[in-house]
Amino acid sequence: MPENVTSDFGYIRFIKSKNQPVLTDTEVNDITNMIENGRLVPSFKTNREHVKHVRTIVAEKENHNGKACPKCGSPMVIRETKTGQNIGKKFWGCSNFPKCRSIVSVT
Ligand SMILES: [Zn+2]
Repeated sequence: MPENVTSDFGYIRFIKSKNQPVLTDTEVNDITNMIENGRLVPSFKTNREHVKHVRTIVAEKENHNGKACPKCGSPMVIRETKTGQNIGKKFWGCSNFPKCRSIVSVT
């Protein structure tokens, strides 16, 4: 494992092993400002949009073919039954799960 991959509290040792300044105070300030300026206003709305955005990315990665949920219109994604009689069976599930539990069988 690379040294910056740690488990438990190993990261504390890793951080403490770095005691050579890399950036000047001015650089740290500039970078902090850049991060702050690019940041969206923290709010319920931002959070909701963030979740929606991440879901969209995940849905796109999970190769939906432009299939939209019949209930809410969100992209449908291929899922696999994890338990029970139909284990291993694939189906289309709404990417808005668990808010929307719409499923469509794979034909
Ligand atoms: Zn849906």
